[in-house]
Amino acid sequence: MTAEKLLEVKNLKKHFHVGKNQVLKAVDDISFDIYKGETFGLVGESGCGKSTTGRTIINLYNSSEGHVQFNGQEVAHIRGRKRKDFNQKVQMIFQDPYASLNPRMNVAMCIGEGMDIHKLYPGKKREKRIHELLETVGLQKEHASRYPHEFSGGQRQRIGIARSLAVNPEFIIADEPISALDVSVQAQVVNLMKNLQKEHNLTYLFIAHDLAMVKHISDRIGVMYLGNLVEMTTSEDLYREPLHPYTNILLSAIPVPDPSIEQTRDRIIVKGEVPSPVNPPSGCVFRTRCPEAMDICSQMKPVWQEAKPGHFVACHLYEETSHAR
Ligand code: SF4
Repeated sequence: MTAEKLLEVKNLKKHFHVGKNQVLKAVDDISFDIYKGETFGLVGESGCGKSTTGRTIINLYNSSEGHVQFNGQEVAHIRGRKRKDFNQKVQMIFQDPYASLNPRMNVAMCIGEGMDIHKLYPGKKREKRIHELLETVGLQKEHASRYPHEFSGGQRQRIGIARSLAVNPEFIIADEPISALDVSVQAQVVNLMKNLQKEHNLTYLFIAHDLAMVKHISDRIGVMYLGNLVEMTTSEDLYREPLHPYTNILLSAIPVPDPSIEQTRDRIIVKGEVPSPVNPPSGCVFRTRCPEAMDICSQMKPVWQEAKPGHFVACHLYEETSHAR
């Protein structure tokens, strides 16, 4: 991992007003950096705010508070020519390969659209580039004249990847890019993304609810719960030495490939449902489901702190003033 920072997210909040005096805290004060060439995985259950984070970073949503800087520039303030550059450098791959491609556009049009907007590859270069991209993602140039409905889910996601690559991005936000795909196809798409990262020196924000797949592709991982980041460290550390009780629960839900171990191992069963982000619990947002909750957990929000070098956690179990240790 190189140490050059590409993206800096600082105290980011995205709140939605959803009714009279009601505020949905989709993202509630999160901070993390992404370094050039790495894959940062953002993981958590559905509704935890991970997709909203991705969309706020790319400015599809305006942030409520906090900062997002890309290459040192405040994203919300980028205007004019620089905004066009940003839109070229930062691309998004969406979850649903069925909905994300316009059914009335053939593959060449889908892939070429961004190239036209950014005036890249004019004339004959355009067609050549589209054919190259199709081959890059494991399809054939003959597919260029076909329409999205003629492809499987995995093939459509490959077209989505080709479309994002078409404008030579630096940073790709992949929002649940494999969730809608068959398990057999998921690994193929992840491996394709890994190979493309090496070839094109890409940086990824990989958003998913499946920790097993996130581990496979990520250098570092942030775990989100109810709009908050609760733990962040390297992928290896998160598996070897998870700190937060919620991370432990997510890890225990991953099946072990060896059936004899899988049948006998203990799983941590998480109690209850995810609370509403409109009315989150006081103190630690995870306390209503946490097997280790203490009195202090309902009274004070745990501080986001570096428990070990590069390993961050928000939990009273790791605070020096905690009564737990
Ligand atoms: Fe559990 Fe308390 Fe830690 Fe929250 S702060 S995760 S409730 S132990």
